[in-house]
Amino acid sequence: MAMPQALRDRAAEICRRLIKEYPDATCRLNFTTPFELIVATILSAQCTDDRVNKVTADLFKKAHTPEQFAKMPIEELEKAIRSTGFYHNKAKSVRGMSQMLVKDFGGRVPVNMEDFLKLPGVARKTANVVRATAYDLPAIITDTHFIRLSQRLGLTENERPEKIEQDVMALLPEEHWSKFSHAILFHGRAVCAARKPACDKCVAGDLCPSAFKFPHFEKSKGS
Ligand code: SF4
Repeated sequence: MAMPQALRDRAAEICRRLIKEYPDATCRLNFTTPFELIVATILSAQCTDDRVNKVTADLFKKAHTPEQFAKMPIEELEKAIRSTGFYHNKAKSVRGMSQMLVKDFGGRVPVNMEDFLKLPGVARKTANVVRATAYDLPAIITDTHFIRLSQRLGLTENERPEKIEQDVMALLPEEHWSKFSHAILFHGRAVCAARKPACDKCVAGDLCPSAFKFPHFEKSKGS
């Protein structure tokens, strides 16, 4: 995909500044194996990382391999993960994913995207979290922060996560994909919040086409 040079230059500078601002940015979910990270990532949908880490601290003492999760009664799993929300669906995904790993993958977590996407409950975002964090592979993680910030920063005009992923991949060299994903996530939490981004504190403010929009937004809300 051909991207205008000015956009590539702007993306490169945004990437450089954000990685510099958040040099230690990484996934905050606790895990000791790629499999534990998939489970934690499934549980993290619509839930905070802190809550997931509390739940998995107990859960992984009961079970931490695909074989153990594949055999765990669904009621027991639902009870253990209940506080992460959407626990019926999450339990179904974790159990189904574990059963398929045992049946089709010899109990090992795959590396390539095609195999990841065969697993129940595993979409590109989950696959890319594991690829970037557990395997140290280049991957763009299109979570809610990444989608919001890449749109605000004018790095994409797309809405669909897989299109946004492709747009950003075309703009940046692959050695920056994973670090940039984590840095964006940290920036989304710390500065570029969904409702009230702190544009005056943003290291990319002068490069962001949305910076001028938010003072008006806040005034119009009377805040
Ligand atoms: S300038 Fe504002 S909208 Fe743009 S990335 Fe920074 S905080 Fe977000």
